[in-house]
Amino acid sequence: MPRQRTSPARAPRVGFVSLGCPKALVDSESILTQLRAEGYDIAPTYEGSDLVVVNTCGFIDAAVEESLEAIGEALAANGKVIVTGCLGARGDVVREAHPRVLAVTGPHATPEVMAAVHAHLPRPHDPFTDLVPPQGIRLTPRHYAYLKISEGCNHRCTFCIIPSMRGDLVSRPVGEVMKEAGSLVRAGVKELLVISQDTSAYGVDVKYRTGFWDGRPLRTRMTELAGALGGLGAWVRLHYVYPYPHVDEVIPLMAEGRILPYLDVPFQHASPRILRLMKRPAATERNLERIRAWRRECPRIAIRSTFIVGFPGETEAEFEELLAFLREASLDRVGCFAYSPVDGAKANGLPGAVPEEVKRDRLARFMAVQAEVSRERLAARLGEECEVLVDDVEGGVAVARSYAEAPEIDGVIRVKGAKGAKPGDLLRVRIAAAGEHDLEAVPA
Ligand code: SF4
Repeated sequence: MPRQRTSPARAPRVGFVSLGCPKALVDSESILTQLRAEGYDIAPTYEGSDLVVVNTCGFIDAAVEESLEAIGEALAANGKVIVTGCLGARGDVVREAHPRVLAVTGPHATPEVMAAVHAHLPRPHDPFTDLVPPQGIRLTPRHYAYLKISEGCNHRCTFCIIPSMRGDLVSRPVGEVMKEAGSLVRAGVKELLVISQDTSAYGVDVKYRTGFWDGRPLRTRMTELAGALGGLGAWVRLHYVYPYPHVDEVIPLMAEGRILPYLDVPFQHASPRILRLMKRPAATERNLERIRAWRRECPRIAIRSTFIVGFPGETEAEFEELLAFLREASLDRVGCFAYSPVDGAKANGLPGAVPEEVKRDRLARFMAVQAEVSRERLAARLGEECEVLVDDVEGGVAVARSYAEAPEIDGVIRVKGAKGAKPGDLLRVRIAAAGEHDLEAVPA
């Protein structure tokens, strides 16, 4: 994840480094918004800052290293560093490597970070509250934004330590989520990416309480929220949805065009035994049935998923079962990781650790099968007309995405001949060529 720094303004100045996933990015945005709301300026360099906040990631070993390195860099260049984020939840690791840090907090801890900032860099007397845009400070380009609807998770997947760092599910009030989404759309955001640890569980913790938005009752529940978001006039994309039965209810919203026909469902594996060892909900046959039913109801639906290969105890036969599922499910977009033990994860204690070499081999075989599937699925889109959102323009070619591509994680559509197109524009295009991951299009 690139380190993102914001533009310069006035003293007292805070430098900011944001590492990690979209959930961490949303935490960064919340801290930056609060800093600006209290009158702090955000500095673009370590040297020009009075203090630096580093929002870390601790998901896999490589992320831990990158985070520790970023903290070291900030300490060397500036000397006053506050650490927050997932790695911050393991304060001992941070303090052991960098005893000079001023404070360490876990993820989703804006009040704690602000308290540490106040202690080491007193807040200015005259906060420029009126200078903060109502949609807050965003690190994403102006035309799309992540909308975090809850924090924490009630599952206990054995490879994951997020619940121990972020706790059980806490859903944000539905009225607050809608208010934020409305401000974003009014500020020019064209695409809302709904994120959480488990989007389909939204509202479980508050028993789907009825909240209010715009003077009308609205239940704290994924389907109702998706329907309401779909009425705001922006694209709405759902991430991290588990295949619970009630997920079927959002498919008609996709078929009607109210939200994007895109579903990000992290299946992780296909072997029932491995899924049980992972403590994942839902069984494979039902997942295949469910995918077929979704496609019957909304033939255009693009399904994205992530998988882990080389989980402890995974046999060759179970891996083959996963490959068979991959061919059968014919998913549109797929990410895959070789199992990597995360400190504190229960799965590390399972018998049958898969040798690194076997993991690498399985990852390569998995990606080869998916490349074939992806090529076929993209080729099937030749001639399709669709709307795309322009992210960038490179040498006269608009780099864009349709309903089927989420930013950063999926492929792109390169549109040639879209004269005058700029980031944030919506264009109507026809798909003209297909590769393994990306597409080419011309204005329709
Ligand atoms: S669903 Fe599983 S993998 Fe996702 S955050 Fe919860 S425990 Fe972790």
